[in-house]
Parts: sequence; structure tokens; C-alpha cells
Amino acid sequence: MNMETRSTCPYCGVGCGVIIEHDATQITGVRGDPDHPANFGRLCTKGSTLHLTATPVVMQTRRLLRPARQGLPISWHEANTEIAAKLQAIKNAHGPDSIGFYISGQLLTEDYHAFNKLARAVIGTNNIDSNSRLCMSSAVVGYKQSLGADAPPCSYEDIERADCVFIIGANPAWAHPILFRRLEDAKARRPEMKIIVVDPRRTESAEFADLHLQIQPGTDVALLHGMLHAMIWEGWVDTAFIATHTEGFATLKQLVRDMPPREAARICGVSEEQILQAAQCFATSPATLSLYCMGMNQSSSGTAKNTALINLHLAAAQIGRPGAGPFSLTGQPNAMGGREAGGMASLLPGHRDPADAAHRSEIARLWGMADDSALPETPGKTAIELFQAAERGEVKALWIVCTNPAQSLPEQALVRRALERCELVIVQEAFAGTATAAFAHYLLPAATWGEKEGTVTNSERRISRVRTAVPPPGEARADWRIAADIARAMGMPLGADTPEQLWLEHREATRGRDLDITGLSYALLDERGPQQWPFVDGQGTERLYADHRFATADGRARFVAKPFKPPLDTADARRPWSLTTTRLRDQWHGMSRSGVVPRLFGHEGTPALSLNPQDMARRGLAEGDYVRITSARGALVLRLRGDAAIASMQASVPMHWGGEFVGGAGGINALTQPGFCPDAKQPELKFTAVSLEKLALP
Ligand code: SF4
Repeated sequence: MNMETRSTCPYCGVGCGVIIEHDATQITGVRGDPDHPANFGRLCTKGSTLHLTATPVVMQTRRLLRPARQGLPISWHEANTEIAAKLQAIKNAHGPDSIGFYISGQLLTEDYHAFNKLARAVIGTNNIDSNSRLCMSSAVVGYKQSLGADAPPCSYEDIERADCVFIIGANPAWAHPILFRRLEDAKARRPEMKIIVVDPRRTESAEFADLHLQIQPGTDVALLHGMLHAMIWEGWVDTAFIATHTEGFATLKQLVRDMPPREAARICGVSEEQILQAAQCFATSPATLSLYCMGMNQSSSGTAKNTALINLHLAAAQIGRPGAGPFSLTGQPNAMGGREAGGMASLLPGHRDPADAAHRSEIARLWGMADDSALPETPGKTAIELFQAAERGEVKALWIVCTNPAQSLPEQALVRRALERCELVIVQEAFAGTATAAFAHYLLPAATWGEKEGTVTNSERRISRVRTAVPPPGEARADWRIAADIARAMGMPLGADTPEQLWLEHREATRGRDLDITGLSYALLDERGPQQWPFVDGQGTERLYADHRFATADGRARFVAKPFKPPLDTADARRPWSLTTTRLRDQWHGMSRSGVVPRLFGHEGTPALSLNPQDMARRGLAEGDYVRITSARGALVLRLRGDAAIASMQASVPMHWGGEFVGGAGGINALTQPGFCPDAKQPELKFTAVSLEKLALP
């Protein structure tokens, strides 16, 4: 019997709607949902091959099918009982903060809610962080510092309505393909639309641009300050908007006095003329939209970069109108939902703050806790801090859900020492063979796309349903249920036993907040399709700040004045190359899902270090040579390839490969560094100083 189930793609933050074709036992096909407002029926190569991640062969060979202790199968009853007892014993002996949770932007909002409750209410720790820390935390803090709330103000429709699209630190042609198709279509309809791309590499997105500013890596803040300097000097700022709707312009103006376009051009390695062109187009176009992602976020200056960009939007009043505003592109499918549910150390549900006693009390009451001061006060450890504490022996137990830190976190040598030192490592995963699973004392099989129920939120604040088409294989279970069962085994049931009950609790936490979704329900999502938050009185919200009243206490946005600082590593005589990590068009994260589809290796089949061909020729290096790449943290060996998109003295490696690299456990993150943005705690994965040495292979 052929059946169809509407759901959402589990890969990137575009959040495309999919229709799963199945026979109630097996997924047989997938196609784009023509009614979903993110993609209107289109899918990229990853989305259109989703059914190939759920074939009978994949189910038998690549999925985790039953719980295991030290590699040997056990029952769920044994797993739950033993894990609950061990967590309780560690909590009793060392306190609740000796336990940490590292979860994922791949989880559904309902999963996030369950783990958040387990960590904070049952265990009693704020040590719960998400791999969104590696992805979007700079954007979160940037929005909060500038606009007062972690709320991307724009919609995908703004892409079609913008006159100038300013893309910085993002390559949507590969990382957000369906969004980029919308941009291509808009440009075809309105060729006068101007597209500016800022990127150290000449990516496919840059090739498409009217103006490409190929800046030196890590110099974004200098560029943005130089643009603001030009906008002020040329009279392109909106002084009435600044006076009426913002605070802090005088301080910022003082700061950018020292960054005239000539100085910014010197630092960034572009021409003064290019900076002036970009500034004029940004400020004077009727509507300017900026799109940004990892190049802005994965930086020790992540918050400074985000706020410097939002400063430009505020100075030119390019916000709150159709086609205008700062629009961060979310990397993962539900990083947004995780932020809404407070599934990060620095957040509580409903965009609340764990450092705020009143916020903790509100959540304790919502969660039905007898003592409304019972939620923990001690700040939680963010991703890097959590593993550093485990390496020092302070965190004794780590529960890792749907993510692969033994590949994806920087300074892999430390991460692996941390995992080895823990008394208890629980790894909850759908796919077998991740690097992190090798460290697990308990390995728990999770249900995944097509097998679980709930919601996700995409980059434009749009909540979509994720639906079950087929049962999970073997004994795999939904992530939320695994958390709920352990809570029950510890004597403190979560009090919600279905995805919808969990979601209703989450919904209540948004009441009266900037992301209020109390007008929404599963039934309404089923009836009317995906909706954007805030959603009250039967109506979603396409665009925020249309009245120019921002989410700060006084309603005025803040100009944030943070100076330009170079990256933490310095490219010098010893390590002269600037290495960045990149994404491929057809792969996803550590490839645990996309890596089971042979077709997706057709675009790029093996890992390689890309260098500028002229740099290679000058050093006697040839395509296919092997080089040892060494940073201050470690070394690995990789094959070389020439790529004219890479500027001189720069190097790039896709972040997807782990163990398949030639030498160097942990893939490229054997080299990257744990230094992070002081505000957002997001590590600097985009800049590592390295040396290269050609290997003479026998
Ligand atoms: Fe999935 Fe993103 Fe591709 Fe859409 S663009 S199909 S969400 S991977």
C-alpha cells in the first residue's frame, strides 16, 4: 500500500518541507512538499536523497538497533536502571555539576524540552549545551545585545523583495541551496538587484555576486567598521531613525573614526573603492538584506562581527521593512527550536536567562516543581568548557545526544582525553560508527527522520511539523522518550508522556515572551501548515520590528561598539598559512547520515587540502601530493588539490571527514583551537595558523 506523510528535511536550517513516500513499514521515496513555504516543492541533492538513508541495507548495516553496554547488547530495562543508578551515584558523590549533557541542533523541540527538564530539574545542573554552540551562538548574542532578543527579524520572502543582498561569511549556494535558488530566481526577475558577497574564498555564491570583497580571513569587523565610517562621512546614515529608535551611536561613531575605508582596505586586503561601493549600496538601496552564517559566527570575534553588521542596518534604517534587515542563516535543522526551548547552558525556555532568579522561578513553576527556587543557579558550562572540565576530572559523566564531539569539537586531543577520563559516557545516536561512539560506556539507539514526531523551527522562525512515517528499526526509541525513561528510573518523571504534551509545556513557557506561540497547536499546524513566531490570536508574524520598537526594555535598539581584533592564531614565519574549515555541497556535518548515500560522494569523494594553484607551483607542490599540516595543537596528513577560489597563503579543508583522514584522529579538528568569543563562547573554527610540509611517500 502506497502512503504519504508530510514532514521536514532533517539537514539544514532552510527547513524544507518533504513528502515521505512509504508503505508504513519502509520509506520508499521522498519529494519536495509543494505547499511548504520554505521550498515550494524544491529539494537539494541532500534532501532529495533522504529516502536512501533509510533503505533496508542501511537499516541493517548502519543503524544502531539495540542498547549496548561496553559494546555488548543489553535490554532497555537494564540500560535505564543502570544509567539512572550511575547518574544518581555520581550526583551524590560529586554534586549535580559533575554531570553534563551535550545535545544537538538535530533534535526536535520536544527532545530539547525533555533533556532540558532532565538536566535542570532532575539532575539539578545547568550543564546542558548544544552543538549549536559551534554554529549560531554568536548570532544569538549579537541579536540580544543589539535588538534585545534572539529573534531573526526577517523572512525568506525578503530575499525576493530586497534591492541589495549583502552576504557575509556564508556560502548559501552550497550550504543553503534552496534559499540560494530563491535568490537566483529573484535576480533573474529583477536584474537590477545588487548582490554583494564578502568571503575570503571565491565561492559559488561569490561567483554569482555583482561585487565580491575577498577579504583576509578574520577581518570582517574592520570591513564593517570601514563601511560605517564611509556611511557617516558620506551622509548615508538615517539620522532621524538613529535619534528616535536607537542608543549608543555617539560611542560607536567615536570608535569607527579610527577605521576610515583606507585603513579598512589595508587590513582586509581589498580596495578602498570596493568598500565605498559596498557601503553606498548597503545604505542607499531602498531595501538591504544581509545573509550571514558560519564565517561570522565561528570566530573569537563572533559577537563583534554580528553586532558590527547589525550596526550598519540600524545606522541606515535597513530593518523592519520588506526586504530589509539582518538575517542570520541557521546551520542546523532545529538550532532555532533549541534556542526557543532553552537547550543551551546560557538559556532557559522561552528566551529566559538562567542567571535571572525570577526567570528560574517562572520555569520551576511552569514545570510543576514544589520549590520555585529549586532550579540551579550555578552557571552551566558551554560546549568547550564542558569538555575542558571533563579533562580536568571535574565533570565525571557526559551524556552526548545526536552529535559527534570526537570529530566536531576543536582541539581533538583534549576532547578525547576528556572522554577517556569520564566515569560515565552515554552516547545516544541513530547511526553506528561515529568517532564518539567508540568512547561510550552505554550506547543508546535513537529513532531519526521518518520515525519520530514533533516540531522544528527554521531560520525564518517558521515552525514545521516532523511526522512519523515508519516505526524505528530494532529497538531504537525517540530521543525524548529515552530522556523521559531515565528521569522516571531516577524517581522524578518528566510529567509529559507524548511529544504533544512536551510541546504544550514548551508552548506555555513562551506565553507573554517575544516568541509567544500560545496561539499555535499541533492541530493548527496540521490544518494550516508551518507558521512563524510569534503566533498569537490566530496569526503568525512575517517580519519583526515593523514598528521600529525593539525588544529592549525601552524599545530602542543598541549600537554596540566593539573594536576590531585579529584572530587568536597568528600566521607568522613558523606557521604562515591561514587554514579555514568549509562545507561541501552534498555532505552534512560528520556524514553519519549523508555518508550512507554513495551518490552524495559524486561531487567530492575524498578529503583534500585546497591551496591556490600559484602558491603550489611556487613551492613545487603538485595536485595529489601529500602534505603534513601542523598547527599549535596537532598535525595530520592530507592530499593536496589546487583551487583558484582560494587566495594566496590561505588553505581550506572540508569539515566533514573524521577517521578517514590519513593520520590525525579527529580530522581537521585535530588542528583547530578551542579559543572562543568571550560573549558567545563560540570557538574559532574558521582560522588556524598552520605550516605545510611535503611528504616523500615511498
Ligand atoms: Fe534539506 Fe536544506 Fe536541502 Fe532544503 S536546502 S532540502 S532543508 S538540506
